[in-house]
Amino acid sequence: MKRIERLTSRQLERNRETDKKYQRKKRLDNKGWKSQQNLEYRIKNKEKVEAQRIINYNINNGKIKRMPCESCNSILAQAHHDNYSKPLDVRWLCASHHKLFHLSVSVVELQI
Ligand SMILES: [Zn+2]
Ligand SMILES: [Zn+2]
Repeated sequence: MKRIERLTSRQLERNRETDKKYQRKKRLDNKGWKSQQNLEYRIKNKEKVEAQRIINYNINNGKIKRMPCESCNSILAQAHHDNYSKPLDVRWLCASHHKLFHLSVSVVELQI
């Protein structure tokens, strides 16, 4: 507290400017990093992204009805694809069961 009180208004002004520049730079860096990540994700998971796009499209226009989680009946279920080449073939799992499901799948894959 005392330190800040002793700063002159000019110093305060300069501090604020530096801070603003820093924040702006941070935001830009972050943005670039995010879109780069996003792009890589999209390239690596092209089929997955496309399957999700198709299922979301069909949910939005009412062709596919959201179902509750098949394990716990939670209404906040997410569409899970067993096979991304069959985008309309989904199971409904809530966030936790969805995560669990993928974990168990990768464990099975590791065991093979
Ligand atoms: Zn569930
Ligand atoms: Zn899934």
